[in-house]
Amino acid sequence: MTTTNQSRTEPGVLTNWSNWAGNQQAPGVWCMKPSTEGELQFIVESAVRNNQRVKAIGAGHSFTGIAKPEELLVDLSSYAKVRRIDKANLTVEVESGMQLWALNEVLHEHGLAMQNLGDIAYQTIAGAISTSTHGTGAKFTGIAGQVVGLRVVLADSSVVECSAGENTDVFNCARVGLGAIGLLSTITLKVVPAFNLAVVEEPMRVDALLEDLNAHIDGNDHFEFFWVPHTGWALTKRNRRTNEAAAPMSALSHWYAKTFLENYAFGAVCHLGRLRPKLIPKLARALPSSGRSEYSNASYKVFASKRIVKFYEMEYAIPRAACAEALNRVRRAVEDRGFLLNFPVEVRFTAPDDIPLSTASRRDSAYIAVHIFKGMDYLPYFKAVEEIMNSYQGRPHWGKIHFQNAESLTTRYPQFEYFRSVREKVDPSRVFGNQYLQNVLGN
Ligand SMILES: Cc1cc2nc3c(=O)[nH]c(=O)nc-3n(C[C@H](O)[C@H](O)[C@H](O)COP(=O)(O)OP(=O)(O)OC[C@H]3O[C@@H](n4cnc5c(N)ncnc54)[C@H](O)[C@@H]3O)c2cc1C
Repeated sequence: MTTTNQSRTEPGVLTNWSNWAGNQQAPGVWCMKPSTEGELQFIVESAVRNNQRVKAIGAGHSFTGIAKPEELLVDLSSYAKVRRIDKANLTVEVESGMQLWALNEVLHEHGLAMQNLGDIAYQTIAGAISTSTHGTGAKFTGIAGQVVGLRVVLADSSVVECSAGENTDVFNCARVGLGAIGLLSTITLKVVPAFNLAVVEEPMRVDALLEDLNAHIDGNDHFEFFWVPHTGWALTKRNRRTNEAAAPMSALSHWYAKTFLENYAFGAVCHLGRLRPKLIPKLARALPSSGRSEYSNASYKVFASKRIVKFYEMEYAIPRAACAEALNRVRRAVEDRGFLLNFPVEVRFTAPDDIPLSTASRRDSAYIAVHIFKGMDYLPYFKAVEEIMNSYQGRPHWGKIHFQNAESLTTRYPQFEYFRSVREKVDPSRVFGNQYLQNVLGN
């Protein structure tokens, strides 16, 4: 038996799957590794014939069981090429297993870029859109909002080509499809001419920042901040889109800031905190002393960074207008409940879209994300934060830990029932189902 974790596997072998964080595992599932659309169809057809459930996996970067295979795992790492770049119309069609970092490099070679990205680029394009993965920027949607066309293999093994003007129900739902609508074969994205980002990173007092929050959000193309628990500080990151020449950090400064400080030194602090939790507040107070830095670089090199330190994460989308109040309630809960936290709380913003299960569906959104170092108990902290988010009709990131179910989610999405009805039409026998989907979609 082989073990699959973002790695390549032999076709048709029994495999043990686990996700990046190691908190989701599926021992002994059959793994298929297609390299053509015809093979995707064949896999679905034979799974249906054998009464098996099919689960496509991306790079295993979801913390929930959303990608957990139960019978047949489809590893798309050999179905991961750029099919077509249309420079005139600024679109690119890619096979669904392509990882974002690889796509970014190809686009850059052609003078193009994705409009916006999250903070890592290890995800596959299919995995990223399926869970409503997003970055930050009040004028920009999540990655699924950049999709203009899809080819999807449905449960009857037909291939449906869809877009805003063709097979619209499948297009609407499969963009953030949770893997429940069908196997995504190719994805066509709207892209933009390559651009640089001018970055300012600096600590600010969190109270002052929250008082002026709208000015920060609207005054920057991409604004985010990290509140450091046990302190009154936030680390802010402001990115401005520009065509001015890049002025990147030197290789050594970049390694020191992004690899050593953000990964190795931070990892060491986390290990120490796990061993001696009472030291955590003192360790946290050492963090904001990192000063102001300014640099610029190609967009994809700024948006996404390395993440070596492993953690568990929960993230909620709430109405943007509620952000400051909600964060202050999280700060109070941390203090009142005595949680000892060695990870900052990350806060981001996006524009609304009209995708039924997008976490920003029809709502200007703020995202509040909480993290716990791998191996530490996340339950009391995450439950306390979730309780706060519930009072804002919070929508959990589909790929990050939460404790919701279909009953609690149905009123939080204006098009929840529409999604369920489209799924019922295209996958009535739940070929693409698993336990996670049963919980969040109700069957
Ligand atoms: C270190 C780290 C940083 C992260 N940063 C961010 C961030 O900045 N912003 C953010 O929003 N999220 C972030 N996430 C969450 C991550 O983006 C999502 O969980 C994303 O879905 C992971 O993509 P993946 O390729 O690993 O997909 P997986 O987790 O493997 O799968 C996710 C879903 O996609 C489905 N899927 C995959 N391929 C196909 C296909 N071909 N057809 C149909 N369904 C398919 C799977 O079945 C599953 O339902 C982060 C996660 C980690 C671990």
